[in-house]
Amino acid sequence: MIYLDHAATTPIDQSVRMRMDEVNNSFFANPSSIHSLGQKSKVLIEQSRKIVAETIGGKAGEIVFTSGGTESNNLAIIGAAKANRKNGDHIITSRIEHPAVLKTCNYLAENGFRISYIDIDNKGKLDLAQLEETICNKTILISLMMVNNETGYLLPIKEVGELLKDRQIIFHSDAIQALDKIDFSVDELRIDMLSLSSHKIYGPKGCGALYIRQGTLIESILFGGSQEAHRRPGTENITAIAGFAEALGQMHHYQNNRRRIRSLGNLFEKRLKAIIPNLKINGENLPRVPGYSNIYFPFMSGESILMNLDLQGIAVSTGSACSSGSQKPSHVLQAMGFTKDLINNSVRFSLGRDTTKEEILRTIDVLKSIYDLSLKKLA
Ligand SMILES: *Cc1c(COP(=O)(O)O)cnc(C)c1O
Repeated sequence: MIYLDHAATTPIDQSVRMRMDEVNNSFFANPSSIHSLGQKSKVLIEQSRKIVAETIGGKAGEIVFTSGGTESNNLAIIGAAKANRKNGDHIITSRIEHPAVLKTCNYLAENGFRISYIDIDNKGKLDLAQLEETICNKTILISLMMVNNETGYLLPIKEVGELLKDRQIIFHSDAIQALDKIDFSVDELRIDMLSLSSHKIYGPKGCGALYIRQGTLIESILFGGSQEAHRRPGTENITAIAGFAEALGQMHHYQNNRRRIRSLGNLFEKRLKAIIPNLKINGENLPRVPGYSNIYFPFMSGESILMNLDLQGIAVSTGSACSSGSQKPSHVLQAMGFTKDLINNSVRFSLGRDTTKEEILRTIDVLKSIYDLSLKKLA
């Protein structure tokens, strides 16, 4: 199988798997227990917390472990909205966020908050001028993703951070797709809350973290014990947390791989454009991180290309994994102003650290044969 769906999830790294086995075998006690076995589990969590903090330039006390990116986004947005309600009722986000942000904002809109959605301009970029105009003295929170999961678009997070420099507005970023693609620190970007997920960086599923800058007011969204400094109750998933930390440790060995993935992606797009007339790379001229190719095929629906590739042992996605199950046209491509036909005929290829040149060449060959076949059918 050729796996080109790394934006949906990544396979678990070998050493992460070994680390998790080790933890399963020798750590079982509840980290909240006072006895020495419990304290052993507790130490493991605190070591992992330090690794997460170091990766993004925060302090260990600013990291809360969660059940994944979705929960991190929910906790950040609902938690901050409720805790800061006395200062205002206005929240700003963009039209190209993950559903874990968009639907959380919908929920808040139904509960008395006002939400503004920043548009994508005619160049495909976030409309920064509109963002600046939209800020008002009731704005309490801005939530913007760092890297878009359908196109790889790198949003102008640093510019937004600058814009908020002298304002009392909480800045949250969903950095789930950015974590292993670019180097950044929360201080340099002036971010107050940052969502992370383990399974997008070769760690286990069902584990994530939320960075919450010291001093940021936030309420819990779950109720129970006093774990995670009262911010996220529930007995910690020790095995997954240790696996996440191991995945972060491994991540640093693969930084040189980014250039390789970028050139593989360039090769892929260049060859396809040469072979298939009228093919288009969606968001081609946007600042993009390596590994994402969202491609419009003029001859067949994305759905049928996906099926045909699958029959040939190649795994890809139409839109994001979450929205492809629901068969709705991608809200990201819609926000970029694309027609229904263009959205319907688009496929997302996302490369990973193990993707080889041979796999890319094979995928190009298979796409060419799918194209030739569809031409024959038309004739
Ligand atoms: C995958 C993803 C999420 C959801 O994270 P889970 O850990 O799967 O809940 C949120 N935002 C973005 C940008 C993602 O790619």
